[in-house]
Amino acid sequence: MSVPQAPTAPRGAVALGMPPVRRPPRDARDPLAVAAATAGRPAVPGLVDSSGRTAVDLRVSLTDRCNLRCGYCMPPEGLDWMPDEERLTDDEVVRLVRLGVERLGVREVRYTGGEPLLRRGLEQVVAATTALRTPDGAPVEASLTTNALGLDRRAAGLAAAGLRRINVSLDTLRPERFARITHRDRHADVLAGVAAAAAAGIGPIKINAVLLPGVNDDEAPELLAWALEHGYELRVIEQMPIDAQGAWAREGLVTADDVLARLRAVHDLEAEDPAARGGAPAQTWWVRARGADPTSPPLGRVGVIASVTRQFCGACDRTRLTADGQVRSCLFSTSETDLRGLLRSGAGDDEVADVWRAAMWGKAPAHGIGEAEPLTTSGFARPSRPMSAIGG
Ligand code: SAM
Ligand code: SF4
Repeated sequence: MSVPQAPTAPRGAVALGMPPVRRPPRDARDPLAVAAATAGRPAVPGLVDSSGRTAVDLRVSLTDRCNLRCGYCMPPEGLDWMPDEERLTDDEVVRLVRLGVERLGVREVRYTGGEPLLRRGLEQVVAATTALRTPDGAPVEASLTTNALGLDRRAAGLAAAGLRRINVSLDTLRPERFARITHRDRHADVLAGVAAAAAAGIGPIKINAVLLPGVNDDEAPELLAWALEHGYELRVIEQMPIDAQGAWAREGLVTADDVLARLRAVHDLEAEDPAARGGAPAQTWWVRARGADPTSPPLGRVGVIASVTRQFCGACDRTRLTADGQVRSCLFSTSETDLRGLLRSGAGDDEVADVWRAAMWGKAPAHGIGEAEPLTTSGFARPSRPMSAIGG
């Protein structure tokens, strides 16, 4: 058995598929163009969109590079990485994050990639982020999504920089399965990274797992037991059609219902109050041993991110920055708005903020993956870059 992969898509088609970009200075810096893109937008400082949502959660990709090759994310040979000069510098990242926090209502910042630990200046970027305050004086919540390779050496520094929340991707507890899924024999390094994060006082620690049929789909209860034992929170993510190879297929989807059925064979799950979810992508359940007194304290929580079968676009509160400084209003956007060009052409904060607001006003109401029945990708425009280049 192998990780499901479609016939190799032509490299470059998606691998580096550059999406339509609204490029300043001619367009985005033109006041008429900005006014046209924001017709009907209320005069509020935040990142509102025309469907009534407000983005407060910023996801920043720090690099498109990675040292693993998870089959659902990128091909074994890797991708054509972004040239260094196209990537935002640390100062540029921090400037945009500051602007988001101080002018645009951003309250949470999650650094991701690619693999964010490959970014040398990560600790400095995190420290600059946690030093920021919102206009009402609240601290900013900084978090990281990582594969944890090398985290054993950097956890203490990241904790000192103010990092509290971390999501570590770990699809299996079995080293041989890990090597099959990621094409690298680094399972022990991931475990060492998670343990170091916990020892450094970073928490809550969430474990992100993607389940693949015939590979690790039987492991949900085991992963949950392991996470509960260590005080981590498991998040099972439905595989999305956002891999660089274009390999996603409905037959390859382990759905939220499949996962919950497997978990319920071992544990009792009690749905958490939906009001607690807010804009979070995960639906969560309190976990107790099978047959335990339902009024007894739970062993912990588990979450399922069902982007395909249980869309949560209506409550989405995210805005995204790619490593090369493009704003995306959605993971699945088919267009982007260039802020790097604005920064590098000397634009002031007011101007950059206006362009960011205009980009978010045009956010689509929903991504539409799960709408076709039977579930296929037909009728759904695949995003113009793979997940590793956008930032998951
Ligand atoms: N390299 C880091 C990591 O793996 O945590 C951060 C970037 S990765 C793109 C972020 C998250 O996206 C990971 O938890 C990964 O499992 C998830 N992911 C990647 N490809 C996916 C796909 N096709 N469907 C669902 N989740 C995916
Ligand atoms: Fe790398 Fe994360 Fe993609 Fe795996 S999911 S290949 S760790 S970017």
